[in-house]
Amino acid sequence: MKLPSELLHKIIKIVNFDKTGETSEKLERWTEKDASTIIGEEIETRIITASGNVVKPKDITSICSVCNKADSETGRSDISDILLCRVCQRKFKNPSGKTLIVSPSEEQELDRNFNEWEAFDDKRKQPQ
Ligand SMILES: [Zn+2]
Repeated sequence: MKLPSELLHKIIKIVNFDKTGETSEKLERWTEKDASTIIGEEIETRIITASGNVVKPKDITSICSVCNKADSETGRSDISDILLCRVCQRKFKNPSGKTLIVSPSEEQELDRNFNEWEAFDDKRKQPQ
C-alpha cells in the first residue's frame, strides 16, 4: 500500500498580544484531502509589539504601564519604577546632567517644575 503524500504549508500569523488568553507559538493542522494526499498547515504566531516590532510570543517580556501594549524590551521609570515600552519612554535631562527615563506624564510634570524653578531663579537674579 502506498502511503499518502504530505503537503505542508507554512503560515506565519501576526497577531496582537492576547493578555487574557494563551498565544500559542506554533500550531499544526492536518486535513485529508483525498486518499493519496494529506494537507498540513503549520501556523507560527508572531506578535506586534508596542514599538512596532514583530517578535515570537516567547519574546514578549512585559506590558507597558502607559499604553498597555506588549513589548519585548522594556525599561522602567527612574521616578515611579513603572514599566515603559520603548515608545512611552521619555528621556529627561535634569540640571545636574543626569538623564532619567520617565513616562510621558512624568516628563510633563518635570518640565513644569523646572520651568517654575527657572522662573524663580530669574526673579532672584534680578537686581532689587
Ligand atoms: Zn507604552
